Amino acid sequence: MDLRIAHLYPDLMNIYGDRGNVIALSQRAKWRGIDAEVRSYSVGEWADPEWPDVWFFGGGQDQGQDIVGADLAGNNGAALKKSVESGAAIFSVCGGYQLLGHEYVPETGPSIPGVGILDVTTRAGNTRFVGNLLVNSPDAYLIGFENHSGRTYVGAKAKPLGTVVVGNGNNGEDKTEGAVQGRVIGCYLHGSCLPKNPWLADRLLGWGLARRHDDVKLRPLDDADEKSARDQATEVARTRP
Ligand code: GLN
Repeated sequence: MDLRIAHLYPDLMNIYGDRGNVIALSQRAKWRGIDAEVRSYSVGEWADPEWPDVWFFGGGQDQGQDIVGADLAGNNGAALKKSVESGAAIFSVCGGYQLLGHEYVPETGPSIPGVGILDVTTRAGNTRFVGNLLVNSPDAYLIGFENHSGRTYVGAKAKPLGTVVVGNGNNGEDKTEGAVQGRVIGCYLHGSCLPKNPWLADRLLGWGLARRHDDVKLRPLDDADEKSARDQATEVARTRP
């Protein structure tokens, strides 16, 4: 088996170590003998948007989001939608998450239209949510940290990724964090997220592989180090939110 990983706008949307999510996806595939290739997709007409099995879209500053939002308003946004319709998965964090929704309204300046792949809408608040973020999801808990002013509200076509235990999550009001719609996940978990939440990394690997391969079964890995990092970060979140 082989896996095709696309890193969206790595030059503009890569803050707080979010690149680690791409490394985690690639390495967890390679540890299983799966040939994983990573390609960058940034501003300018993409030559092969039908290539990726799984896309990663990281966080960024408002000014980066302006440029990326404008790029996605053209053919690249339509190509990303088509890729998801053909079965590709997306994992997005913070600014990337916001731009997969219907729009992101920054604190200053005009609204940035989103791609509309996730049924969420985001408006910046006048304070930033910064700190550890611990989330309960139906499958397992998630640990990371958040740094965003955006308040995201999940619509009927998506469901929250989980419930906030420590931190603010989507908007600091309704105790939701993130959003899931089909094989697309958005969240506010920096950290980077997937190395400390290997179950979620494997969920995305399974979705990505299923796009072109049948009967995908991922053998378990020895996640002792990941568990240790996860437990330590969780302890810090619970005792020093
Ligand atoms: N600029 C957006 C916000 O502050 C996203 C920030 C980020 O990606 N960390 O909400």
